[in-house]
Amino acid sequence: MDSMWGMSLPDIERWSRRVVAVRGLNPGPFTGPGTNTYLIGNGRRPLLLDTGIGVDGYPPLLERALREECGSDAPGDLLITHVHPDHMGGAPALLRHFGARRVAKFPWPARDERFEIQLTPLADGAEIRADGVSLRAIHMPGHAQDHLCFYLEEEAALFTGDVVLGAGTTVIPLEGGDMTLYLDSLRRILELDLARIYPGHGPLIDDPRAKIEEYLQHREQRETQIMEAIHAGLTSVERMVEKIYRETPRALHPAAAQSVLSHLKKLEREGRAARSMDAAGEEHWGLT
Ligand SMILES: [Zn+2]
Repeated sequence: MDSMWGMSLPDIERWSRRVVAVRGLNPGPFTGPGTNTYLIGNGRRPLLLDTGIGVDGYPPLLERALREECGSDAPGDLLITHVHPDHMGGAPALLRHFGARRVAKFPWPARDERFEIQLTPLADGAEIRADGVSLRAIHMPGHAQDHLCFYLEEEAALFTGDVVLGAGTTVIPLEGGDMTLYLDSLRRILELDLARIYPGHGPLIDDPRAKIEEYLQHREQRETQIMEAIHAGLTSVERMVEKIYRETPRALHPAAAQSVLSHLKKLEREGRAARSMDAAGEEHWGLT
């Protein structure tokens, strides 16, 4: 897994006439320069897409972005790509700071309820309008079962959340992740008329097709490496990760293990790998 570790980007960056990126101020090994949140629209109440993880400095930073870039003092509705804390965690503080407003996302009740805020359900295909912008929600599960990407009609641009990142690759977590659905989501992105991608982390992507093809190739390569590891007699996820992710910082290995296991579950579903349990209750993988 490539990582965005150490990459930094300006806190506020205008990426188009309609789109301003505001960093969530939560840099780290998994978030790179921090989560990208976006002000979208030309009016005085731009939509806010994603909220960061809830860092104290974020609401004042957002206020500054609103003032300097939008001539505004508050955002309009909040849109959430998915329930992971680095995307939705800032929502409660924003509601306290700016007052009540709509927070819309695709439902995942078991996870949503942890936030104790009222949510407006958004379905696949839902249309959202604000000044000068029309967005279409597209359900893209795989990284998270509730993941929505948002297509900005005026720019043929896609806000991809964690489905596609500006640098590195995404983790397919065990809870709510699914490699088969993830690859299907990537292929559906390829079918869109797309000029650019606004990712959930990292820099703007201005060659979407090349990026998605690189992502698909990367997963294909990982799958080949996993099959080779099984052929070579490595049966545990831990040992596969050690071999395949040799060049990756060890701090990222637990996340890599989740992606490897997600690959294995896909291979199991396709009848190409099988798991068994040893006497100690350890899981082992082999060929079918
Ligand atoms: Zn995520």
